[in-house]
Amino acid sequence: MSDNNGEATPAPVEATPAPVEATPAPVGGPNSGTIRVGQGFDVHPFSEDPDRIFVLGGVSFPQAQGLVGHSDADVAAHACVDAILGATGLGDIGQLFPDTDPDLEGADSLALLARASDLLADAGWSVSNIDCTVILDSPKLAPHRIQMQDNLSEAVGAPVSIKGKRTEGVAGLAGGVQCHAVALVVAR
Ligand code: MG
Repeated sequence: MSDNNGEATPAPVEATPAPVEATPAPVGGPNSGTIRVGQGFDVHPFSEDPDRIFVLGGVSFPQAQGLVGHSDADVAAHACVDAILGATGLGDIGQLFPDTDPDLEGADSLALLARASDLLADAGWSVSNIDCTVILDSPKLAPHRIQMQDNLSEAVGAPVSIKGKRTEGVAGLAGGVQCHAVALVVAR
């Protein structure tokens, strides 16, 4: 091989491929088929305000003591929001729906859950299912479990299950209602 001057040019050194650097997927940037799990937790204390309505899983319990909260204080819906946001790295409920936002005062938390689910869908994620455990002594959940599951499932667009657990007299647990949620999400 020669260049334009007729001088021999050294054989090209065989190119060594540059090492491929692993590029971490951006948070919230799914690859198709990626499966992630997310965990959510929420707690609201009981309210002294007789006008506060106890709402859980979108079901109102007019006879029960309400919970303190900026929105309707639906701990199940809030835990579900954090579970799906956590799974996808899309933030948390406080970022998405700040309790300083006057527009969210008394908000229907099922609508917030639906909005969070839409955000996931826009980012390429699909919720597979969510499983919740609600910790409280009263009211009894069993008569309303199906309705709560239906409400939450409709908001998420995927099956949501609800299980009730009593406080078993553990100090500190009876002053409010807690919910733990675990969500499985899949990248489309
Ligand atoms: Mg909350």
